[in-house]
Amino acid sequence: MKILVINAGSSSLKYQFMESEGGEVFAKGLCERIGIDGRLTHKVPGREDVVREIPMPTHNEAIQSVLDILVDPEKGVIASTDEIAAVGHRVLHGGAAFTESCIIDDACIEAIKKCIPLGPLHNPANLMGIEACQKIMPSTPQVAVFDTAFHMTMPPKAYIYAIPYEYYEKDDVRRYGFHGTSHRYVSARAIDMLGNPAHSRVISCHLGNGSSLAAIVDGKVMDTSMGLGPLAGFPMGTRSGDVDATILEYLMGRYNYDIKEMLNILNKKSGVLGISGVSSDFRDLDAAAAQGNERAQLALDKFIYEVKKFIGAYTTVMGGVDAIVFTAGIGENSIDLRRQICDGLEYMGIKMDAEKNNVRGKEADVSAADSKVKIFVIPTNEELMIAMDTAALCGK
Ligand code: AMP
Repeated sequence: MKILVINAGSSSLKYQFMESEGGEVFAKGLCERIGIDGRLTHKVPGREDVVREIPMPTHNEAIQSVLDILVDPEKGVIASTDEIAAVGHRVLHGGAAFTESCIIDDACIEAIKKCIPLGPLHNPANLMGIEACQKIMPSTPQVAVFDTAFHMTMPPKAYIYAIPYEYYEKDDVRRYGFHGTSHRYVSARAIDMLGNPAHSRVISCHLGNGSSLAAIVDGKVMDTSMGLGPLAGFPMGTRSGDVDATILEYLMGRYNYDIKEMLNILNKKSGVLGISGVSSDFRDLDAAAAQGNERAQLALDKFIYEVKKFIGAYTTVMGGVDAIVFTAGIGENSIDLRRQICDGLEYMGIKMDAEKNNVRGKEADVSAADSKVKIFVIPTNEELMIAMDTAALCGK
């Protein structure tokens, strides 16, 4: 089935038009500066990129520009928008209500709206994308695929926070976890690569600009590092990961920050950027560290140390591990970081083959022949997962 996959942000909208079976991508692109002026970048494999300035006061014009370019006689890939069988939307927060993807109807929209307090930055933008598609292509079925849904199999001991229980009962405060679509895709591939055993324990390491780990037993998430929101876990490009809440009170008192300023620091100015003062991009950190920048090295050391801690913790709670998967920008491309994360874990049966690890951006088994635990590099493909879910639900 030909599926249009949409990932709508507040001022941007990414799209991919693809085949759900096999994953062939016909076209993909990005609408930027929605609400400001508007720019469309459209890519078709084997052709030159198209960049057009198109007024996009709202998401409606952005979606319309995507449909227009898809059917453009010269730059497009289809004759009519009727060829779009369905639209799959990435939605950040599904709360506890969504344990899987669902066809978008009034009840689904209401439930996504109810999750806005949990995902205040992303859910409203995701909804704008959905509502624009409903308006412009009212007879095309739409599906919502949630970043949180895959994690909803966590047991209560993993998702409950040790604060008064009433905040869970009355206010839905609990661990939700994110990057669920990515963890689902790569862990399913890993289980396949393990030969589909009856019992499997996988640690999926999604290491990108935002990062999270998930402990996955028999294909079901047992624990994950992000929490109520995506700020939790280990340090990321600009996010702090877990911090002692006392730090908030201390810094807010000393500098007169309000909670918005404090959270902006933790979300945008922390992580490896905060420690290094150099960059949130690991390529810049590698370059700076190689030139002797000690803070860049410290940022890298901290990242590696915290990822190792999560691997140790997840191996313990799962009673062992059969496969570790590296994915996303850093996980797929940073040979050195993968090596350093696995360094010293040989006592756990995790042994990397340096030669095999010399790989970027493609699926590979990088474990040593005598490693008890498989180490896989698996490029993530959230769009394919969204297209597959959309086709499965709309084909029914
Ligand atoms: P993502 O959010 O998955 O797109 O990942 C983006 C991040 O991947 C960038 O910020 C870089 O830090 C990282 N990255 C991409 N390529 C490399 C590379 N060759 N070496 C190290 N890090 C990389």
